[in-house]
Amino acid sequence: MTNSLDPDFQRDLLRIFRMPSVQTMVSRKSSVTNAFVSAIIPVIPPSPAEIQEAINILGLDQKDLRCAYCGDKSSEWDHLRPLVLQRRPTGYVSEIANLVPSCGKCNQSKGNKHWRTWMTSSAKWSPSGRGIPDLQQRIERLEKFEHWRRPTQVDFEGILGHEEWEAYWQTCEDLIQRMSECQRVADQIKSKIGDAIAHPGSKS
Ligand SMILES: [Zn+2]
Repeated sequence: MTNSLDPDFQRDLLRIFRMPSVQTMVSRKSSVTNAFVSAIIPVIPPSPAEIQEAINILGLDQKDLRCAYCGDKSSEWDHLRPLVLQRRPTGYVSEIANLVPSCGKCNQSKGNKHWRTWMTSSAKWSPSGRGIPDLQQRIERLEKFEHWRRPTQVDFEGILGHEEWEAYWQTCEDLIQRMSECQRVADQIKSKIGDAIAHPGSKS
């Protein structure tokens, strides 16, 4: 029984416990938008020479590839300029001029923020927040990389026309709307289940 435990000990126990965060359907809103953007983004594979040039500019080693932002082991390539801003595509695409090696922590933490703003912010997992020692040098290399090539920027609406473009985003809005409705149903069901667990035997 908890009431037989020392209060300090109880506090320590509560401190180590963390309930897994609850993902509601509504909290998936930005994932839905990101999926609608990712689904139409052009992908331009680089040549080996282009990959070499990119890692040279970033001062990285192909035999031990590190995160361009923080220096941890690289696990993926991250879009330097975000693909999505304010729930719409920026026009940037998946191509070597817009991709840098990254660790998962940095990729997650950076999200759709501007890379320099994020790197120098005090956000918990930003390179500055984590006290990365050679921050300034990393920023200078990323600036050099940024000016290496003019990135492709697609004018989606110009290619498709206003009507088709807006119709695509309407399907996205419709889906988000439908998910909100599903969430309301889920909330009602969850509350009934909660009641049933709290008062076993009493049927409502
Ligand atoms: Zn990193």
